Amino acid sequence: MGLSEDVVRIDAVLHATPSRVAPDVAVAVAAETFGVQAQLATDLGSERDQTFLLFDAAGERLAVMKVSNPAEDPARLDMEALGARQAAQADPTLRIAQPWARPGSGQGVDSCRAPWQGPDALQWVRMYDVLPGRARLDPLTLDDVALHAWGDTTARLGRALRGFIHPGAIRRMPWDVQHAAACRPMLPAIADPYARAAVTTVLDRFDEVVAPRWPVLRAQVVHGDLTVDNVLADDDGIITGIIDFGDMSHTALVVDLASVLDSLGTDRTGEEMFRTARLVLDGYQRITPLETDELMLMAELWATRAAVGVAIASWRAAEGLEDAEFAERYNDSALATVEQFLATGWARSAELLGAPRSGPMALLPGSVPDPDAGDARRELAQRRDAVFGPAIEPLSYDEPLELAAADGVWMVDTEGRRYLDMYNNVACVGHSHPRVASAVARQWRVLNTNLRYLHHSAIELAERLTATCPPSLDTVLFVNSGSEANDLAWRLAAHHTGGSGALCTSFAYHGITAALAELSPETLYAPGPAPGGVNQVERWTPPDRYRGLHADSSDFVAALERLRQRGVAPAATILDGVLQSDGVLDLEPAYVQELLRLTHAAAGLWIADEVQGGHGRTGDAMWSFQRFGIEPDLVTLGKPMGNGQPVGAVITRRELVEKFAHDTVFFSTFAGNQVSMAAAHAVLDVLADEQVLPRVQVAGAELRRAVREATVHDDRIGDVRGMGLANAIEVVRDRQSKLPDVTTAVRVKDRLRDLGVLVGTTGPAGNVLKVRPPLAFTAALVPTFVATLEQALADVTG
Ligand code: PMP
Repeated sequence: MGLSEDVVRIDAVLHATPSRVAPDVAVAVAAETFGVQAQLATDLGSERDQTFLLFDAAGERLAVMKVSNPAEDPARLDMEALGARQAAQADPTLRIAQPWARPGSGQGVDSCRAPWQGPDALQWVRMYDVLPGRARLDPLTLDDVALHAWGDTTARLGRALRGFIHPGAIRRMPWDVQHAAACRPMLPAIADPYARAAVTTVLDRFDEVVAPRWPVLRAQVVHGDLTVDNVLADDDGIITGIIDFGDMSHTALVVDLASVLDSLGTDRTGEEMFRTARLVLDGYQRITPLETDELMLMAELWATRAAVGVAIASWRAAEGLEDAEFAERYNDSALATVEQFLATGWARSAELLGAPRSGPMALLPGSVPDPDAGDARRELAQRRDAVFGPAIEPLSYDEPLELAAADGVWMVDTEGRRYLDMYNNVACVGHSHPRVASAVARQWRVLNTNLRYLHHSAIELAERLTATCPPSLDTVLFVNSGSEANDLAWRLAAHHTGGSGALCTSFAYHGITAALAELSPETLYAPGPAPGGVNQVERWTPPDRYRGLHADSSDFVAALERLRQRGVAPAATILDGVLQSDGVLDLEPAYVQELLRLTHAAAGLWIADEVQGGHGRTGDAMWSFQRFGIEPDLVTLGKPMGNGQPVGAVITRRELVEKFAHDTVFFSTFAGNQVSMAAAHAVLDVLADEQVLPRVQVAGAELRRAVREATVHDDRIGDVRGMGLANAIEVVRDRQSKLPDVTTAVRVKDRLRDLGVLVGTTGPAGNVLKVRPPLAFTAALVPTFVATLEQALADVTG
C-alpha cells in the first residue's frame, strides 16, 4: 500500500524511518554532544526517537540519551523540554525527567538539544537524568491502589500543564483522537473485515457524537501519552518517573485520560474493564473534577483511542515500519476494548464510566424522543409502588413527571419539555443555583464532618441567623429537616414548660416525627389519634377572611379550654406563618399577637414554624413571624434553608437550651455538617446579593393583580390571595356560594401541567391552587403564567 497524501500530512515522524544509531556510536555521540564519558550504551527501544541508557566504567547509570528521529522538528523538541520544565515547577510532586542543558548553552529555548550529524541527516541529541523505577509495565499487574494513583497523576500532570502553550503543540497526530478522522485512509490496512468494521463504527460514532461537541470540551496542551510504556513505576505500580513529552499536543484535556484508560484497560474485559476505569477516574477527579460533557463522551474518546491504535499499528505493519507480530498483539487487546464498548452500547458505557443518566446531552435540540418513554415511565412508577409501599405520597399527576434537570424557575423532563415551576419552594433561590451548587460541590471535596470538631462554618451561620432575629433569640441548634426542627422545638418547649399539650391549626402540617404526627392533621384521614403520635393536641381553625369565618380568637380560646378540661398543660402553640396547608391564609398581626398572649398566659411557648414562610417567602421580612410583630420563643427552619440540601435549625432563647442541657445532651450526626452549612450560607448570600426580598414583594403583588384581572369574569375563581410568593387561587363552584370545587381545581392543575406550568393544590378541601414558585420567579414571568392559567381555565369546562 502506498502512502496516502492524508497520512503524509499527519505527522512526518509517523512514517519516517527511525534513526538507527548503534550503541557504540551512541557512546561517542554522548561524549561529543554533552561531554558525557560513558563506557557503555544500551538501546532502550523506542518508536519515535532512539533512547540509550548510558553507563560508566563501574556500571553505574549515568544518563538517558535521546537521539531524535531525523524527521523531527527541533521546535518540537524545545516544546518538550519547556513543557517538562514547566510541569515540574508547577507541581514538584510529579517526578518528571528533566532535560540537561547543553554545555555552554546558556538559558535559550534550544539549550536542551545538541546537534549531531547522523549518517543521513542532522539529528538532535538530548540528555536526561536517570529516574528510578521499572519501565514497560504490564497493566494487569497494577492493583486498585495503583490505578487510583495513575488517575491522580494524570490529573496532576494535566493541571501542571494548564498554562503551558507552544506553537509546536498545534499538530496533527492521529493518536490524539481529535484527529481520529486522519486515520480513515489507514483502514484498508486492517486485514480482518470484522476488525475493520468495528474500528469504522467507532470512528463514525466519533464523527457523529464527539466531533460536534469538541468545541465545548476544555482544551489545553496535554501530555497525551501517559501510558504503561511511557513511565517508570515502583514495585507497587506507582509512577516514579514521567519520561516522555514527545506526544504533547493542544487538544481536549480528557484526551489524556482516554489514553491512560486505554493503556490501563489493556486485557481487562467486561465488568472489570469498567470497574478499574472508574477507579482511575476517581483518582483523576480527586484533583480535577470532570465536566458533564467530558464524562458523557469518555466512552467514545477511549474507544476512539483504541480504534485509532488499531488503525495505526495495522498501517505501520503493512508499511514495514513496525514488527507485524508486535502490531498483531497490540491490535488484539485494542480490539477487545473496542468490542467491549460496541457490545455494551454507548449510553450504558457512559453510565458505567460515571456519566449522569439523563444529562444535558440527552436534552440536546434535535435528540429524538424515545417512542417507548411512556411505557418505561409507567414501569418505573410500578417499581416505585413495589419498593416504597403505599404510605408515601402518590406521584404528582396521573401521568407522572420524570425530571432530568432544572434551572432557576424552570424544570426539564427526560423528554426535554420545559415547565415553569410555580410549585417548588425548596429551591428557594432557584433550581441548581450556581452559588449553592458550587459551594456544596466545593465543600464536599474538602471536608464534611460533624459538630464535634471545631469549624467556622456552623458557628458563623448560627451567628448570621440570630442576627436576623429579635435579640432574645440568641441560640441555634442545627438539625437536618423541618420535621427535626419542629420535633426538637417541641421537646425544648415540653421540657421547659413541663406541659404535654400542643395547639396547632386545624389543617396544619409540621412534620413526620411521632411528636409531630398529631400536629399534622393535614396528613390524617380520620379523627382520632395519629399513628404513633405521642402528644396531646387540640386544634383551632384559623380565620378564613374570604368567607368571613373564625375572624377572632374564640376558636383558639376554645381549643385552649379543651386542653385545660383534659387536664393537660399546654407546652406550645405552633404556627406556620403562611398557613400553607390550611389554604394559604394571611393573618392579621393583632390576631396572632392575641394568640401568643393567650399561649403565654397559659404558660405555653410559641413556635414559629418558618419551614414554609421563612427565608424571604413573604418578601416583607426574612421570617414570616416578623409580619405579625411578635417575638416567638422558638423559630424552626427547614426546606428553603439549603435550597434543597437537607438542613434545618431551631433558633431559641438561651435559657431554654440551658435547661435542656441540664438533663440531656444534644447531638445529631449530620447536623451542622460543612456541606449543609455551605448551602445555607450560599442561600443567605444570594438572598442578599440578588436583593430577593424586594423582588419577591413586587413579583407577588404583580402576580396577584394580574391573576385577579385575568379572572375577573370567571365565577370559578373565588379568591386570589397571598403574601409575597406564597399565593393561593381558590377555586369555587361559584362566587355566590363560595363552595369549594376540588374537581375543577385538580383539573386546572393537571391542564396547567399539560401546558407547561407546575402548581399544586392545598387547603382543607383541596380546592386551592398553591402558587409557590422558587423565589427566582420575577414579575417578568407573570404574563407567561397568567396566559397559561387563562388557557387552562378555558380548556377546563363543564
Ligand atoms: N413545617 C411545615 C410548615 C412544612 O410545610 C413542612 C414540610 N412540608 C415541615 C414542617 C416538615 O419539613 P420536612 O419535610 O423537611 O421534614
